[in-house]
Amino acid sequence: MTTNATSVTLLGLGAMGSALAAALLKAGHSVTVWNRTPGKADRLAGPGVTVAATPDDAVRANNVIIVCLLDHASVHEVLDPPAGELAGRTVINLTTTSPAQARELAAWAAGADVTYLDGGIMAVPGMIGRPGSSILYSGAAAAFDQHRPLLDEWGESRYLGAEAGLASLYDLALLAGMYVMFAGFLHGVAMVAPAGVPAREFAAMATPWLAAMAGELDGFATVIDGGDYTVAGQQSLEFSDLGDIVAASAEQGLDTSVVDMVQQLIRRQIDAGHGSEGFARIVESIRAAG
Ligand code: NDP
Repeated sequence: MTTNATSVTLLGLGAMGSALAAALLKAGHSVTVWNRTPGKADRLAGPGVTVAATPDDAVRANNVIIVCLLDHASVHEVLDPPAGELAGRTVINLTTTSPAQARELAAWAAGADVTYLDGGIMAVPGMIGRPGSSILYSGAAAAFDQHRPLLDEWGESRYLGAEAGLASLYDLALLAGMYVMFAGFLHGVAMVAPAGVPAREFAAMATPWLAAMAGELDGFATVIDGGDYTVAGQQSLEFSDLGDIVAASAEQGLDTSVVDMVQQLIRRQIDAGHGSEGFARIVESIRAAG
């Protein structure tokens, strides 16, 4: 149990909001909750929980308002009506938004005399409050510093800067890496399936393989930051040709979109005369769309 119990409001008791609330309650904090559909607070245990009937009541209860709703539109839908009540308070918005939407909310908050801290949750609900959970923050630095002990109840807290869109930017950039990796894994699942290999068996091989290959990221980053794709020791673009993977997939009648995408990024750099340079150079294909 925490030695500095605080009292906060939490708007939104979906899967993630409920996990955030449960972690705070478990640590001994008091939480006033509100959810559009009543009854979801029934799952929350402990003497510290208070259920508010309206967003107005919930906002009035505390100076710190944590928001975990579906999207940007739902945040405005819930926070606009009690904007007057929010003046002088702090909003910590953990709803996933785009960077532009986070900046819009920060500007809206400034206009309403509300201190605004934006967050991007790098965890699934079951990870909240456990090792491996991290949340990225941007916006009001003073709010991050002041409420850090509370934020740390959910996982590792990382502040990225005063520009409110930064947490969303990093969040979405990390998710881009995750989704493309997942798609690559699923392409592999489809490739081995005709040979009678169950997805579970393939996953057991792919997990340590992909974990080992993640060790390459640091080397790519060093080359990109150095700006020299000719540095010795890199795997060249020509060596990285995905032609065999595309052909083996097409021969089995598979959709080759996932591997075609990488092959096209490589091909554009080879066609521009950079075939002997390092694989990391495909970042230039991404930077120069077209
Ligand atoms: P859920 O779909 O489980 O819950 C959505 C919540 O938003 C519910 O409380 C819902 O209320 C509320 N809501 C939706 N629309 C409105 C509206 N118009 N007005 C008022 N309330 C509304 O989503 P999660 O809890 O999983 O996700 C919440 C946020 O957390 C999202 O932005 C998500 O991207 C982010 N997140 C989630 C992760 C996850 O793994 N779940 C991981 C990382 C981030 P009601 O109960 O009435 O429907």
